[in-house]
Amino acid sequence: MHRFAGALAALCLAAAGTTAVIVAGPAAAAPACSVAYRVNQWQTGYTADIVVTNGATALSSWTLTWHYAGNQSVTSAWNATVRQSGTAVTAESLPYNSSLPAGGSVSFGLQGTYSGTNATPADFALNGVSCGDPAPPSTTTPTPTTTPTTPTTTTSGPPPAGCSAAAICDDFEQQTGGTPGGRWTVGAANCTGTGTVAVDSTVAHSGSRSVKVTGQGGYCNHAFLGTSLSGLGSGPLFGRFWVRHTTPLPTGHVAFMALRDTADGGRDLRAGGQNQALQWNRESDDATLPAQSPAGVAQSVPLATGTWSCFEFEVDGSAGQLRTWLNSAAVPGLVVDSVPTADIDQQWLARSWHPALTDLRLGWESYAGDADTLWFDDVAVGTSRIGC
Ligand code: CA
Repeated sequence: MHRFAGALAALCLAAAGTTAVIVAGPAAAAPACSVAYRVNQWQTGYTADIVVTNGATALSSWTLTWHYAGNQSVTSAWNATVRQSGTAVTAESLPYNSSLPAGGSVSFGLQGTYSGTNATPADFALNGVSCGDPAPPSTTTPTPTTTPTTPTTTTSGPPPAGCSAAAICDDFEQQTGGTPGGRWTVGAANCTGTGTVAVDSTVAHSGSRSVKVTGQGGYCNHAFLGTSLSGLGSGPLFGRFWVRHTTPLPTGHVAFMALRDTADGGRDLRAGGQNQALQWNRESDDATLPAQSPAGVAQSVPLATGTWSCFEFEVDGSAGQLRTWLNSAAVPGLVVDSVPTADIDQQWLARSWHPALTDLRLGWESYAGDADTLWFDDVAVGTSRIGC
C-alpha cells in the first residue's frame, strides 16, 4: 500500500532533481480519511473526542479501527459502538450516524483508563482503508473545499478536579448538541411536562459548557439527565457534582438528584431540599434525612444561589450508610450511620436499608409548585471520595 512517507520521499527525490518528470498521481489525491483525536486526560484515565472526516467515497456505514501503543482500555463510549480486543479497537457507526457522505465528518467519544503514556493512535483506518492511504477510486470528484485536514491531536486543559479517582467524570465539554447525549439520557419517569434539560454555554463551572435544567413546579414537569452506574460494583459509591441554583431551596419538597435503588423496589433515593435546607428522601416510604423537625432541619444547610456549590455524597449499600458534603464540609444532618439518632436518621433507620444504586439522574423534581433553574457541571462518580 502506498503511504504518505513513500509519496513524500518521491517528491523529495524529485525536488533533488533525480527524476525528470513528476506525475501527479496518488500523492495529489485526497486521503481516504482523516481523524482528529482530541484527548482530555488525567492521571489514570482519559476521554477522547474523535472526529472522522471521510474522503471521496460516500459510506452507508462506517467502522474506524486503530491500535493503542500502550495499555489503554476503553470503558465506555458514545455515538459509536466501541469494542476492544487487546490493543485493537473497533468503533462502529450507529443507525443514526451511519451515513457518511464524501468529505463529511462524524464524531464520537470514549472514556478509558491507562497508565504510563497515553500515546495517540497512529494507524487509523476507515472501513479497512488506512487514513494514511489515498482514497480508493471513486466516481465522486472531491472539491478543494472538502479536502480533509491533516490529523491533529490536542490535549486540552486540566480535567475537573478529582477525576483520577472517578469511574465517570464528565465536564460536558464534548457535548455539541442542544440536548445532552453520549452517556446521558434525558427524560423523566411516569410523566413529563414543561421541564427542560439542555446543554448550555452561558454558564459553566469548567470550560465553556454545562447542563441547564429549567425545572418547573409539579411532579409531572420534572426533568432529568441520567446515566447508568453499571460497572461500579457493589461497594461504597461516591458522587460529586457542581450545581448552581437560581432560587433558594423552598419550603416545599424538591429533589435535584435521583438514584434508582434496585434493592428498594426500583424506587428512587433522592437528594434535594425541604424547609429551605438540603435533605435526602426515600421514595418508597417518604422517609427524610434529616427528620423535618426544627432540630433536624437545623443540622442541614441551605444551598447558595447564583454561585456554584460542590455537592458530594457517599452511599455504602452493604453498610447501609450515607454521608454528604457541601463545598467539602460534612453536613451533620445528612448522615446515615449505624446508630439511629433523633432528628437525623432515626426515622431513616426504622427499617433495613441497603441500597443498590443503578443510575444517577440530575435535574429537578417538585412535589408542590416550586420551580428553579439550575445548572450542573463536572459530574463524577467513583468508588473513593472524589473531592471538589
Ligand atoms: Ca463544563
